[in-house]
Amino acid sequence: MTLLLAALLIHTNFEGGSLGQIQKVSETHFRLAVKGESDQDHRNRQANWYYFRVDGASSQPLTLDIVNLPGEYNYKPNRGAITKDTPPFISYDGLRWEHVKTYEYDPVEPKLSLHIAPAKATFWIAHCAPYTNENLAKLRDEIRGNADFHEQTIGKTVGGRDLALWTITHGESKSKKTIWLMFRQHSWESGSSWVGEGAVRTLLASDSRRLRQEVVWKIIPLCDPDGVARGGVRFNANGFDLNRNWDVVDPIKMPEITAQRNAVKQWLDSGNRIDLLLSLHNTETGEYLEGPPDGGGNGKFKPLAERVFQILSEHTTFAPAQPIRYAEETTTPGKAGRMTVIQGLYRDFGIAGFLMEQRVSYNAKLGRLPEVPDRLKFGAELVQSLAKAVTQ
Ligand SMILES: [Zn+2]
Repeated sequence: MTLLLAALLIHTNFEGGSLGQIQKVSETHFRLAVKGESDQDHRNRQANWYYFRVDGASSQPLTLDIVNLPGEYNYKPNRGAITKDTPPFISYDGLRWEHVKTYEYDPVEPKLSLHIAPAKATFWIAHCAPYTNENLAKLRDEIRGNADFHEQTIGKTVGGRDLALWTITHGESKSKKTIWLMFRQHSWESGSSWVGEGAVRTLLASDSRRLRQEVVWKIIPLCDPDGVARGGVRFNANGFDLNRNWDVVDPIKMPEITAQRNAVKQWLDSGNRIDLLLSLHNTETGEYLEGPPDGGGNGKFKPLAERVFQILSEHTTFAPAQPIRYAEETTTPGKAGRMTVIQGLYRDFGIAGFLMEQRVSYNAKLGRLPEVPDRLKFGAELVQSLAKAVTQ
């Protein structure tokens, strides 16, 4: 008897694709190492982005073990961010994504074993539903003709890609409040980009004129285009964490931070204000909102912070596991290059900056794992909530 099996191929040669070593255990069982990424000093290994395509799958069930998970965070070793709580997404068209339903986690190795009964010969799997430069370009093409939308290039990445700053407002700007939003300081956190898309679509909707009349929205939609393109995790092309290093200025090693800080500075130097800045992130574990150091020095931003926290908690699917918290002055005392964007911008300009982490695992308010439509919807809720918080 001849068994004709088409060769099963696993690819990562597309935007955002990433895997380490691929090991074939049998025709239907593969061990797939997460590539991971370390910083400029070969420390702080982060191993929580993988994104690959399978071609030539038959209808036979496949076992795909995701391995090489342990890492390090702020110089403390860990067993990895990928666990039983973080099943990946699967897509059969590269557009619609849903969570893999059958999997098990072995904490001893550790490994996450996916059991896939392929519905088609080709499918994609990713830690989170990907959102790439290509997704952003499509959104830009849709909205660039809107009279209330303006795009400028504020600098280039290490890899020579443009860094965009979007402005959304209606009419003159000077007397308005300004809300400054940042997405994807860390390239693996694609969930935050889906929120960003939901936010932008809401701000430009015909029935959202009030949001544009009352507030100037400044948006950096993609802080690390190089990382997103190569399927990176947390560091720019030179290995620098773009949500640390806000206390150093190095336009060669980290031109992204230089460009983003300059854009903020120029806005303020032109006589404008920033009433609230928010950088949105994802984690596998905690969901929380963090305000500026010491609540803005003696707590002057605490009323605003508490208002933001309360509105988001009451009116959105933001599901914090703890009350509003406030950043320390830096993340790693005594070590240069460890300030986050909100720490650095508070130190330099006294800005009321916030960092929001959203879990990619179970959301108690949704009662399930967050899917792409949940992220888009949260984007709408987010801009409505922030506008309310600064105009109240
Ligand atoms: Zn992050």
